[in-house]
Formats: sequence, C-alpha cells, structure tokens
Amino acid sequence: MTHRTEVSSLGEFGLIDHLTKNIEIHNASSILGVGDDAAIIDNFGKQTVVTNDLLIEGVHFDLMYTPLKHLGYKTVVVNVSDICAMNATPTQILIGIGFSNRFSVEALEEFYEGVYAACDQYKVDLIGGDTTSSQKGFIISCTAIGEVAPDKFVTRKGAQKGELLCVTGDLGAAYLGLTLLEREKKIFLENPKIKPDLEGETYTVGRILKPEARVDVIDYFEKMNVTPTAMIDVSDGLSSEILHICKQSNVGCVLYEEKIPITEETRNAAFRFNMDPTACALSGGEDYELLFTIKQDDHDKIAGENSISVIGYITDEEAGAYIITKGGGKHLITAQGWNAFNG
Ligand code: ADP
Ligand code: MG
Repeated sequence: MTHRTEVSSLGEFGLIDHLTKNIEIHNASSILGVGDDAAIIDNFGKQTVVTNDLLIEGVHFDLMYTPLKHLGYKTVVVNVSDICAMNATPTQILIGIGFSNRFSVEALEEFYEGVYAACDQYKVDLIGGDTTSSQKGFIISCTAIGEVAPDKFVTRKGAQKGELLCVTGDLGAAYLGLTLLEREKKIFLENPKIKPDLEGETYTVGRILKPEARVDVIDYFEKMNVTPTAMIDVSDGLSSEILHICKQSNVGCVLYEEKIPITEETRNAAFRFNMDPTACALSGGEDYELLFTIKQDDHDKIAGENSISVIGYITDEEAGAYIITKGGGKHLITAQGWNAFNG
C-alpha cells in the first residue's frame, strides 16, 4: 500500500500550496492566478463565457470504479465541453473541492494529476478554487471560463427551418460503458472474489471514464469560417439535446435513425446487453459530443470533416420533432435523457 498522508498534517493552506505549486500558465489572458483573494483575467476585447458544474460523490460519480485521476480529468472536460458548446475557446478553470477525512493527501494529488493533465490537453489555466471539508464523500465544483470574438458565440436559440442538424463523433458508447461498470460493481459486491470482466470493452469504458471535449471542432469551425446557428453539447442523450434546440429555437426537426453515428464497438456492446444501440444514443448520455445546426450553404465546409455527421434537418415548429426509423416509421422524439434525479 502507498503511504497515506493525512490532510491535517499539511493544514488547509499547506494543502492548497501543495496541490497548486506546479501550475503552468498557458494563456496570456491569465494575468493573476492562485495565491490572492481573486484571479485577474484580461480578455483583450474578446467576450467572456462562464459556466459551472457541481459534482457529488454517489450522485454524479462512483469512486468504486472511477479512478480519482480520471475524475479530475473528466471534471475539467465536462466544463470545457460547455464552453465549446458556446463556440468559445476555454481559457481558465477554478476548482472547489470538499472532502471527508477518508481522503488523504495522496488521493487528492491523484485527482489533481487528472486536472492538470486536462489543463495541458486543452491549454487551460487553473487560476483558483476553494478547499473545504465535508461530512461525507467528495464534492467538486468546477467553473470554466472561455473567450470568443465579439458576438461569435452560439446559443441554443438560432436554428431555422431548412438548416442541417449535425453531430460530432459517435454516440451511445459512454452509456454502455457505464452500464458495464455498474454490472461489474454489482457482481463484485455480491462476490468480491470475482474479478471484473471488462474484456473487449476498452472503447465503451474509455468513453465514460475518459471523455474528451471537442475543442478541435471549434477550431475547425474557425478554420473553415463557418458559424453554427445553434449548438449544445451532448451530455444527456441526443433526444433531450435535440429537443432543447427545437424548443429554444421554436422549430421542429426530422432526425434519421440510420444517420446517427454509432461505432461497431458500441453496437456489439449494446447487443451483448440486449439493448438497442439507437436507444443508447438517444437516451444515454455523457458522450460530450457537439450537436449543432448550420445553413445548407455551409454544407460543403463541413463535408470534408470525418467526425461530423449530418443526421437530419430543421422544420417548422408546427411540424414537431420526429425521428424516421430504419424501417421507415415516423415517431415523435421524446426526452428520456439520463437524469441524475432519476438515480
Ligand atoms: P479565501 O480565504 O480568500 O477564499 P483561500 O485560502 O480559500 O482564500 O484560497 C487561497 C488561494 O488558493 C486563492 O487564490 C484560491 O483561489 C486558491 N485555491 C483554494 N483552493 C483551491 C483549490 N482546491 N484548487 C485551486 N486553487 C485553490
Ligand atoms: Mg476560500
């Protein structure tokens, strides 16, 4: 067993120093970071985008199968993904943590290793946070800040009739990874002698434990000089996100089941669980891909990008939001997005 250092041996300020002493700054906009009463950012004429997420042990994550390093990485990713969904570039994050005395300095170090790995990956700066104790479990609050050229930000509101509905990457894998980890946890709790069987499931398990935010797609939009008319990140399942865009833009849509990007690994995993891969994409969650709409005239600009799929088009609000199945059936899209409150 590795050495265990009690947080009390460092004290709050000692712990903060310890966890933040090697911070590397990636952005000129980060004028002042950790160490004062507040951080200072200069966005040099850009507009600022801000978002926050609260993650609670037992509600949003399970430390029985989530390594702390992955949790740190994912904490940054889910916030960076929200910044991307506004068509902005992430620049800074702040992380507040609350933890019980079950957590040692080494455990918190592991969490921050993941945080810093993500900071490196996405070139964002950790510029502050807060540290406190909790009676039970691990609580994480993460704020992410990003920048965007004046009025180039994209909301959920701008979709219009005739535009193309597009999604990045592939969907449904994270939900299957989670289902698998939950099954292995149950088996382990019933019989701790049985080793987890994750054979052949690296893709789905990787998608839930180590998701990535699509900063690359935001860069691609800029390079191709295309601005989506509406955008949202896929955290709760495709159907729920489509309905957000439709509702806020006052439009309807047609989605083609056969166009939804689902990998072979995901299909195979779904069949092993006796699930419908399309249902996993529609109602699963945590894929952290981007769902967006573009004008038809911009189609050629995204056609060359492998990781973008056109999955349908936007219609009048009165026409409703529908999915056309592979068999040719037409069904209303309903929101059954994954919901922490259902757990
Ligand atoms: P205050 O009492 O003013 O809230 P703190 O002692 O909490 O100040 O924080 C001191 C500095 O350390 C601040 O810059 C704060 O943003 C930073 N900080 C505190 N906790 C964390 C953390 N968990 N991760 C990163 N920075 C932190
Ligand atoms: Mg504080």
